[in-house]
Amino acid sequence: MKSKMVKSYASLAFITVLLLSVVVGCSSPSQSETVQESSQRPIIVQGPMPIEAEEFAQRLENVKKEKSGTFEFYIGTVNDYPVIVAKTGKGMENTAAATAVAIERYNPIAIINQGTSGGHDPNLNVFDIVLGKRTVNIGSLKSADKDENQGIDPTEWKPMDLMASEGSAGEDPNAEKIRYYQGGKDLLAAANAVKDKYTKGKIVEGTIGSADVWNNEVDRIKWFHNKYGTSVEEMEGASAAQISEAYDVAFLGIRILSNNKVNGGKYNPNTAAANQEYVYEVVKEYISTLPSE
Ligand code: SAH
Repeated sequence: MKSKMVKSYASLAFITVLLLSVVVGCSSPSQSETVQESSQRPIIVQGPMPIEAEEFAQRLENVKKEKSGTFEFYIGTVNDYPVIVAKTGKGMENTAAATAVAIERYNPIAIINQGTSGGHDPNLNVFDIVLGKRTVNIGSLKSADKDENQGIDPTEWKPMDLMASEGSAGEDPNAEKIRYYQGGKDLLAAANAVKDKYTKGKIVEGTIGSADVWNNEVDRIKWFHNKYGTSVEEMEGASAAQISEAYDVAFLGIRILSNNKVNGGKYNPNTAAANQEYVYEVVKEYISTLPSE
């Protein structure tokens, strides 16, 4: 009796295993599809404001949207290659967090941080575009040593490299230097290769400065331009560059001038869409340079 029951349990278990293997067998093509999809590491295109992300997101195919905190990820494809548009929100903190979340979640091959900016270089006009050969944090500063009633003097402030050491940045004289993040070579090459497709202004390589500050004092802008060599300022690029470097992910900032206080260039929000049109060309070009599987 007992052995009969054991036997029938055994045959039931066998049938279950058989059934399971049929089910698994049936789903294996879609499983291997998923594996194939995720073996291509996506390109992430970041934009801070809706007008700086949604134009590109609309160009994606096969889009699905995911959210993490306030960050929105439009996951899709361009020419069958995975591309994710990340709407990060404004500023350094949002961008750093959105970059880290995206790297951990999606394992990107490259990150492009793009959007509008304000000119520091008098030779650049609204609708011109700067490719960030270098990106730098222009809000990381150490003030002069002054006592009460000695006043404040921003022109004496020194650059402070937060990544210089694990010791105190305030005490360490080695931290008194400018930290530049280099733009990824291959991304820069792709961006240069499609320069002629952009007709609304000129495209130059330059230095993008970032901080949670909107500078409207021309003398202060000139101070950054002379000391840091900044071409433009914005509020995100350097934080995305810093986090990309921490994870060893290729990075490039691409910024269009939406305003230029130095030469009277008035703010024009239509620049945000123009930049995304150009960045779309850059992404297609970059994809074409990636080794096909
Ligand atoms: N004119 C808009 C500005 C948005 S806030 C408004 O008043 O709503 C700033 C955003 O625009 C940031 O994402 C920043 O990256 C970008 N930006 C454009 N020009 C800038 C400038 N001159 N200084 C700092 N950020 C600038």
